[in-house]
Amino acid sequence: MTERTLAIIKPDAMAKHAIGDIIQRYEGAGLHPIAMKMTKLSKEDAEGFYAVHRKRPFFHDLCTYMASGPVVVLVLEGDNAITKNRDLMGATDPKKAEAGTIRAVHGASIEANAVHGSDATETAQFEMGYFFPELK
Ligand code: ADP
Ligand code: MG
Repeated sequence: MTERTLAIIKPDAMAKHAIGDIIQRYEGAGLHPIAMKMTKLSKEDAEGFYAVHRKRPFFHDLCTYMASGPVVVLVLEGDNAITKNRDLMGATDPKKAEAGTIRAVHGASIEANAVHGSDATETAQFEMGYFFPELK
C-alpha cells in the first residue's frame, strides 16, 4: 500500500554532513521525497512537534537539542512507507540499532540519533500537517 511518512534529518546528522547519504538511503529503499525543506526549529516548534512526549523526562532536552541547529524535514512516499522507514532508521538508541541502519551508521546517542520517522498512520498525518499544511 502506498503511504506517506514524515522524516527529519536531525541536527547531529546535519552537523556531520550526512544529508546526501541519508536521502540516498531513502531513495534506495523506494522512499521517495515528495516534499522537503531545510529549516531551523524554534524551541516552541519542537515542543509542538513532540507534544506527545511532553511528560517524558527527556522532553526539555530533546526540544533544546532539536532547536540547536538546522534540520531537513521530508515527506517520504512509498510502499508501506511508515514501517519501511522505521526499519531503515533502526532502534531509538543507536547502540541497539541493527547494523547498517541509519541510526547505527550516523546516530551519536539515544537523543542525537540522526533521524526522526513517524511511527503510525495517525502520527504521520499529524506530523505531515505540522510541517506541510499545504500538502494534500
Ligand atoms: P523514536 O524517535 O525512535 O520514535 P521516541 O518517539 O521514543 O523514539 O522518542 C523521540 C525522540 O526522543 C528520540 O528519537 C530521541 O531523540 C529522544 N529520546 C528518546 N528516548 C530518550 C532518552 N531515554 N533519553 C534522551 N532522549 C531520548
Ligand atoms: Mg517516536
